[in-house]
Amino acid sequence: MLKLTVIPGDGIGPEIMTQVVRVLKHTQAPFVYDQQDAGLVALEKAGSLLPDSTLQSITESKLAIKGPTTTPVGGGHKSINVTLRQHFDLYANVRPVRSLPGVPCLFQDIDLVIVRENTEDLYMGIERMVDDDTAESIKRITRKGSERIARYALDLAQKTGRRQVAAVHKANIMKLSDGLFLSSCQKMATQFPQIEFKDVIVDNMCMQLVRKPQQFQVVVTENLYGDILSDLCAGLVGGLGVVPGSNIGEKAAIFEAVHGSAPDIAGQNKANPTALLQSAVMMLQHIGENHKADQIMKALIAVLGDSAARTGDLGGKGSTSSFTDALIQKLG
Ligand code: NAD
Repeated sequence: MLKLTVIPGDGIGPEIMTQVVRVLKHTQAPFVYDQQDAGLVALEKAGSLLPDSTLQSITESKLAIKGPTTTPVGGGHKSINVTLRQHFDLYANVRPVRSLPGVPCLFQDIDLVIVRENTEDLYMGIERMVDDDTAESIKRITRKGSERIARYALDLAQKTGRRQVAAVHKANIMKLSDGLFLSSCQKMATQFPQIEFKDVIVDNMCMQLVRKPQQFQVVVTENLYGDILSDLCAGLVGGLGVVPGSNIGEKAAIFEAVHGSAPDIAGQNKANPTALLQSAVMMLQHIGENHKADQIMKALIAVLGDSAARTGDLGGKGSTSSFTDALIQKLG
């Protein structure tokens, strides 16, 4: 049995996490669950958005599944996700974007993976007020960070039978920072001659993704572009309710949906658990439990195919819990 740190988070987090843990337990996934707080819940209980006990649990387990957490705007609060990614050096944020059978979406044949650098760029939080009326934010890109994310993306392409990697950047304007990212990707690509490598400027990438997303297989990019492109891609395959993600490093792996805490629908049993459920599927694959991962995926696709069972974001009448009930029934 493996220790799994479970962080329900806040907003819709606890509602969807309850359902995902139900599914994992139903499949007898080999976990001992250690529930820990983060987000607004933790701030109220322990006076900290990310208590030490939560960090300690992940240090021990090296494996966590996390619900979304709200980042209060202003007030000096640093994002929990950014803190976790930096603390455990979770450098690769992997977000598979797939059209799922049964899910109403703009394109039926998308199957790409966004590999977002997770520890550098404008997300390092190096900001200052230059004077009362001027603020600046430092964008830091390193050769080490760029080379390791490029290697990760190329290796992922190779291992998953994909033939192409596209590096997304804005090196025509940010010649030093994005230039370093691009040249690092180009250098790494020479070590993978069987993978077709190309680079795309981020603004053109947005247009290409909206018009013809099928042309991409693996996209590797910097932190901020990766954040924005992931939501864009989520919109192409049915919305934020269906896109999973993982944060991978040498010290730990944390699995979480792309979406946030959705305060507009929190506490109403309306949230779609699909994205977090698919993150759990990625986690099972990560630990080699491929059979259980396939089982859940098969049941999920079957339920998504039933228009009445789907949640409201996908045009259905199902609730978070009734959707999961139907899925558990399919699992048998
Ligand atoms: P959001 O992703 O929470 O919501 C955007 C829209 O998508 C909302 O209309 C919401 O109802 C809908 N939505 C999101 N997930 C859904 C689901 N599972 N089922 C159905 N509909 C869903 O984005 P936001 O409103 O910009 O952010 C809210 C908070 O979440 C902010 O504090 C932000 O910092 C935080 N956030 C956290 C994470 C994370 O913890 N991983 C990621 C992004 C944003």
